[in-house]
Amino acid sequence: MANNTKYVFVTGGVTSSLGKGIIAASLAKLLQAQGYRTTIQKLDPYINVDPGTLNPYEHGECYVTDDGAETDLDLGHYERFLNVPTSQANNVTTGRIYQSVIEKERRGEFLGRTVQVIPHITNEIKNRVQILGKSGEFDIVITEIGGTVGDIESLPYIEAVRQLKWDLGEHNAIVVHLTLIPYLSAAGELKTKPTQHSVKTLMESGVQADVLVCRTEHELSEKLKIKVARFCNVKKEAVIQSIDASTIYDVPNMMLEEGLDKVVLEHLDLPFSTPNLTQWNEFLKRHKNPIDEVTIGLIGKYVELQDSYKSILESFIHAGAANEVSVNVEFIHSEYLNNENIKLKLSHLDGVLVAPGFGERGIEGKIDAVKYVREQKIPFLGICLGMQMAVIEYARNVLGLKGANSTEMDEKTAHPVIDLMEEQKLITDKGGTMRLGAWACNLVEDSIVYDVYGKKHIKERHRHRYEYNNSYKAKLETAGMKATGLNPETDLVEIIEIPDHPWFVGVQYHPEYKSTVANPHPLFVAFVKAAYQHSKKQKRATMA
Ligand code: GLN
Repeated sequence: MANNTKYVFVTGGVTSSLGKGIIAASLAKLLQAQGYRTTIQKLDPYINVDPGTLNPYEHGECYVTDDGAETDLDLGHYERFLNVPTSQANNVTTGRIYQSVIEKERRGEFLGRTVQVIPHITNEIKNRVQILGKSGEFDIVITEIGGTVGDIESLPYIEAVRQLKWDLGEHNAIVVHLTLIPYLSAAGELKTKPTQHSVKTLMESGVQADVLVCRTEHELSEKLKIKVARFCNVKKEAVIQSIDASTIYDVPNMMLEEGLDKVVLEHLDLPFSTPNLTQWNEFLKRHKNPIDEVTIGLIGKYVELQDSYKSILESFIHAGAANEVSVNVEFIHSEYLNNENIKLKLSHLDGVLVAPGFGERGIEGKIDAVKYVREQKIPFLGICLGMQMAVIEYARNVLGLKGANSTEMDEKTAHPVIDLMEEQKLITDKGGTMRLGAWACNLVEDSIVYDVYGKKHIKERHRHRYEYNNSYKAKLETAGMKATGLNPETDLVEIIEIPDHPWFVGVQYHPEYKSTVANPHPLFVAFVKAAYQHSKKQKRATMA
């Protein structure tokens, strides 16, 4: 075992979307499965202080950690692969770096000196990289540098990597560089030139790549690997092929076969042993050999970009494997749903998930969908905004409270069944000010969720401003919508259920952030199970 922390930097060249996050997570998995305490960190070169204020169309979903950091979705992959929680320290943006340097300047910490990109910004980057390493909790820290080498935004990061490699010394910090080997179909050939250029660009900044991971659509021959190795100053074993995979969960095994972990450990002067992937491979086996299937509708307004719902989709994969069924997710745009087409779009579904979201667009479609599944007794899971829509629907259509709404959508509604939290009323800044991170919740014993979790006290991650309005609680409960999860300090309602329905659960928090390969989230597992039961019932009904 290492007695000092070692660092692996993962950079990317040629183009974005090469899958750095998945490669970093897969490498981490292989190292973890050999007993190395491993964590991953992502450095994002944009100026937003965090991705919390970004529209999901920009970079996909915003992932939330236990300690309330709003982060890049790659952190979700890290947690799903490693089953180790990440934190504020695991995601740093250029905005955050500049913010803390400028705050230090205002406090007078650089008094008398000119504050510059080098050394002040690069020092701040170096400190942030080493926070996790210095905690003593990890043997290996993998730092993924977002963006593409050669971009203006990436320069201070690459310079920080160059300095760290030098400061930490040989065998303590290495660079894994991801590139592309495109296939030109007209020539019938794989082309190595973009890789050569990308390694050269990195070298212009003084950084020699130690390992190359080459994204490709076709197998790389030995000859080609030798050629890349020769032109890029790396050993042949350090040229790793990363061929397109049918599932991201195959990538750790593919990297194992290619020897990525072995070559990395060799460079770090650490012993290699065969990783223990037993549990991982059991999951893969179940995932790839389902005995049946279910179809679940995902109702949201960002459905054009599936990355907007990344954690939800991955949770379905984990829960599907746990139930030995494949979950077909049908994306349904809430903006185009209405009472006329609802039956056509939802009647064949085995379950419906109404997704999280912000703002007014598409909410009436979500409310219509909740009404339909409530009445037709189709299993329902509402997450955050989805839960709020379920409360609004019940208030309007069961309690008869006309125009009931959330004050997020209609400030002047006569029935604000979902309302801004008291503490939120004075807040005007939008960044990092929601109710964020893990909060405790007590479950009511006679409930679906109590059976699902198998315990009374849980902690789940939040990201919202609005809440169930407790002044409507008595009425809603009497009418049949029960509050089955409560915040112990504030009494805020975190979970609603309808006992007179096969499976109707709405949660104010985001269970999807905590589902991992090793620990599929119990709510998703139970929801998929309910959907499967529904599908079997439907099949029996059509056969009868
Ligand atoms: N817009 C809602 C709120 O702020 C729900 C947020 C969400 O779905 N994450 O409360």
